[in-house]
Amino acid sequence: MKTIGDLGDLRGKRVLVRSDLNVPLDGTTITDDGRIRASVPTIRMLAEMGARVIVCAHLGRPKGEPHPKYSLAPVAKRLGEVLGAPVTFAEDTVGPSAKAAVEHLDDGGVLLLENLRFNPGETAKTDEGRAEFARALASLADVFVSDGFGVVHREQASVYDVAKLLPHATGGLVEAEVNVLRRLTRDPQRPYAVVLGGAKVSDKLGVIGNLLGTADRLIVGGGMVFTFLAAKGLEVGKSLLEADQIDTVKGYLERAATEGVEIVLPVDIVVADGFSADAAHDVVAVDAIPADRMGLDIGPESSRIFAEKLSDCRTVFWNGPMGAFEMAPFAAGTKAIAQALADVTRAGALTVVGGGDSAAAVRQLGFADSDFGHISTGGGASLEYLEGKELPGLTVLDGDAEDRAGDA
Ligand code: ADP
Ligand code: MG
Repeated sequence: MKTIGDLGDLRGKRVLVRSDLNVPLDGTTITDDGRIRASVPTIRMLAEMGARVIVCAHLGRPKGEPHPKYSLAPVAKRLGEVLGAPVTFAEDTVGPSAKAAVEHLDDGGVLLLENLRFNPGETAKTDEGRAEFARALASLADVFVSDGFGVVHREQASVYDVAKLLPHATGGLVEAEVNVLRRLTRDPQRPYAVVLGGAKVSDKLGVIGNLLGTADRLIVGGGMVFTFLAAKGLEVGKSLLEADQIDTVKGYLERAATEGVEIVLPVDIVVADGFSADAAHDVVAVDAIPADRMGLDIGPESSRIFAEKLSDCRTVFWNGPMGAFEMAPFAAGTKAIAQALADVTRAGALTVVGGGDSAAAVRQLGFADSDFGHISTGGGASLEYLEGKELPGLTVLDGDAEDRAGDA
């Protein structure tokens, strides 16, 4: 993996950095600046080397044209605060505003371009569709640094194509993320448990299949657990259920049994009569979910069992909240898992939290980043890495193809 140090003297050089600044916003208020804070060390390092730093990033999913709701302007402001230095903001990505701002950039100065996805070429599905935009981006800079871990699984102009057009290096954040994930795929210390939750089982089926070959325990909660419960023949009422995934899940349960992977499911569920914070709710046994109610969290006995199943682990990967944690009455299961991870971290285990909502959950519930071994900035990217998929944004960087060759 070629790192920034391999790029030589960067003083006065224009360095295009792809960062992941896709933060959750409430209007123009950033509700979790974790990705900004995670991106700052690389940006600061480049600025201190005297580079002219041109940061590019996306926000949300605008449809290939400018949309004020998805402007990175609030992010530029916050980036400047975290960096402790002024950040210029360009009102377009590769247009007149960007070009003028690049021209005015001093050595050590930092510029953020407007949302990459305001341009249809960023996410176009074909190489030709992305080529012109990639060339325009590349023309702004002398070298490229890939530091947006949350997007390395995307074959997009600013992630993939631009790396083919400029001398490039892997940024410190991507390097750190890959190093941690590698420890989960190559010879993890055992017992190794994976905790999966979140909304949709279909998002995570690929990783479940792969983990059955590496993990010792698979602990399941969140909305996806109801597809597991249905696969075991239980009634799940109005809970989230992906009926078309039941057969696949049945297959996984059988494979787990033959391969000796322990699957841990909840024994009790917090059920509510609606998806709202003030819905009437109580705890029922997992085989007694009423037909007219929905499960929104794992119950207290399940939290206790899950925590116990984690307590002797040497390696834990967690993706997906245990319940609808955004609503206080349904946050207890997620909080219990976060606490159990914090406890084993202190006992010396390697713990990794992956996923945008999972990362937001642990911070919202009052945990510090230092309570865990690593909080990944990339949910989809970390899952695809664990699935053993090739990540285009990594393979395009020199040397990474060989680095990954030994992975599952
Ligand atoms: P991540 O972003 O960490 O990968 P996901 O996006 O898969 O996680 O899932 C997060 C969402 O899952 C949260 O918004 C949470 O409210 C929802 N969720 C968790 N449990 C349930 C449940 N039992 N019913 C409905 N939604 C749930
Ligand atoms: Mg999510």
